Amino acid sequence: MLSTVNEIVARIKQLIEEYEHWARQGDISAHRPCPAEGCDCRFRHRHGWVLRDVACGGWEASIGLLRLFCPQCGATETLCPEWLRPHALYPWPWQEAAVLEYVGGAAGYRPVAAAFGVDYTLLWGWVRRLAVVAVDLVAVVVRELLEQDPAARLDLVPVVHGAVLHKARTPEKRQGLAHLPLLTQTAETLREACRRRAGLPADGAESIGALGWLSRYLEAHGIWPGRSHRGSHSRPVPAPP
Ligand SMILES: [Zn+2]
Repeated sequence: MLSTVNEIVARIKQLIEEYEHWARQGDISAHRPCPAEGCDCRFRHRHGWVLRDVACGGWEASIGLLRLFCPQCGATETLCPEWLRPHALYPWPWQEAAVLEYVGGAAGYRPVAAAFGVDYTLLWGWVRRLAVVAVDLVAVVVRELLEQDPAARLDLVPVVHGAVLHKARTPEKRQGLAHLPLLTQTAETLREACRRRAGLPADGAESIGALGWLSRYLEAHGIWPGRSHRGSHSRPVPAPP
């Protein structure tokens, strides 16, 4: 478990550096046009930074999120990377890894939460919220995958430990828990299919946390079951090459 935790912390530090480098000196031209309805401004200006705290267990850092301002309609937008959850301290890959560690069954809520440096009730909440939507989301992701790549192959490995399922009080919760690893696996397959379709190289070993990517994909296609941040705070920011 420790190596997973250390690897993710290292990767998140790297993601912060990559984002900040991209936001300062990278190509942001895709974000220049204003997305506001009825506004045809093609060139939004840089408009300072929003500092956001990011935490991974005992490690904490700030990341500067780039803001853009539209001179025509006056709207501002903060460009949030897909691995960072809007309004949340812990980034997507951290949450996803902790949830998968728990459903893997090697340890209960408290030891897993301790290893990831979060309160166990927070981990419990992450598991519960994802389990509630997991069955529906897997179906959506598989449908999207076949649309993106009709020849796509899915080699799904159910890795939920029986002991974890026994702790679930309802059949729905058991179903949801059993679908969590399938959700991350199908999301990863969909991400790779989209990258292939866009002519991008496979993400491979570099990739962690497909759920953050998935939430943006579904939001962009108007199918994320949660609330939408469209037009207010965040739009998908492509990973730097
Ligand atoms: Zn505008």
